[in-house]
Amino acid sequence: ASSIAPLDASKLTIQRADPTAREVPDEVAACSGNETICTDHMITVAWNASTGWATPELRPYGPLSLMPTASVLHYATECFEGLKAYRGHDGALRLFRPDLNARRMLMSTLRISLPAFDPAELEKLILALMAVDGPKWLPRSRPGSYLYLRPAVIGTQPQLGVQAPKAALLFITASFMPRLDVPAGGMRLHTNPEDMVRAWVGGFGYAKVGANYGPSLLATNEARQRGFGQILWLYGPEGFCTEAGASNFFVVWRSREGQLQLVTAPLDDKLILDGVTRRSVVQLAKERLADEVEVVERKYTIDEVVEASKEGRLVEAFAAGTAFFICPVSQIRHRDHDVHIPMVKGESGLYTAKIKSFISDIMYGNVQHPWGVVV
Ligand code: PMP
Repeated sequence: ASSIAPLDASKLTIQRADPTAREVPDEVAACSGNETICTDHMITVAWNASTGWATPELRPYGPLSLMPTASVLHYATECFEGLKAYRGHDGALRLFRPDLNARRMLMSTLRISLPAFDPAELEKLILALMAVDGPKWLPRSRPGSYLYLRPAVIGTQPQLGVQAPKAALLFITASFMPRLDVPAGGMRLHTNPEDMVRAWVGGFGYAKVGANYGPSLLATNEARQRGFGQILWLYGPEGFCTEAGASNFFVVWRSREGQLQLVTAPLDDKLILDGVTRRSVVQLAKERLADEVEVVERKYTIDEVVEASKEGRLVEAFAAGTAFFICPVSQIRHRDHDVHIPMVKGESGLYTAKIKSFISDIMYGNVQHPWGVVV
């Protein structure tokens, strides 16, 4: 067993792409086609059960080679992460709490029987990719811009049969991603069809495995056709509110006793992803808004939201995640109910806006904070 190598970022080898071969496109143009535009390089690390993790390689971005019998293509032995690198208004390049993404990826990896690694090594590899591609692809001339980082692990063993893969590949890409956090007038949510749930007790909804996402598209596409942006995923006969699309979901309401509360679903029944943005919202609201609003992580139902709305107690709602950041929700359609959520100046609620600026100030270096990790 002593010959099984751990993941070791210090061994990273670098094979550089020709830096003049590609120009950095305009952000909007880069997001307008049907193909994700990646930066010059990617990182790959192979693993196999007998020798462990191979030497990490930073190399030119390009296709992977897989056999048609590879485990991932048949049994969904895949998990991934998503985080952004931000070019700060102070000129620095930062990641936001990448340690949490690295730890979450280990959790997801183990859930689908892919190999363990030290999350600190994954974090170092993510930083290494940004150290090479950040200066060119997130130039200082574009403060406020970002790239999307996508680490993933797949089972590559070319053998059919349902079993834990004996070969795997970890890879990391960096790409452009459209700005999704500001749909005019707020995000409109439609609750899921009664016969489709995203996650269930005893399932794997808490893990960021690809198998959670493909099957959600049917409901999402149906909602889109009706003019809604995302699904508000409810769970169980009670209709517990869980997540909004691939984001966590928050409401601000006044309790019947008159207490202003920021409410979100709990982690302990493992129905939702432990979002980095969610954690940050909860923590900063507890630290900075304690005098005004009580932070409550508990199960709550769509009926409670509908009732709060009818009684004029519903104050705000927002989705929170890397893709949409902090995105105000203006409407929820649930069966024959339509919940309309007040938007201040047609844009956002007061607390939604406050929380958004707390976090974006850290991401873009308007304030120095340990969560903003400089590359
Ligand atoms: N829920 C789901 C299902 C997600 O895929 C994501 C995106 N990772 C989130 C919530 C938000 O998590 P984060 O804030 O870490 O992006």
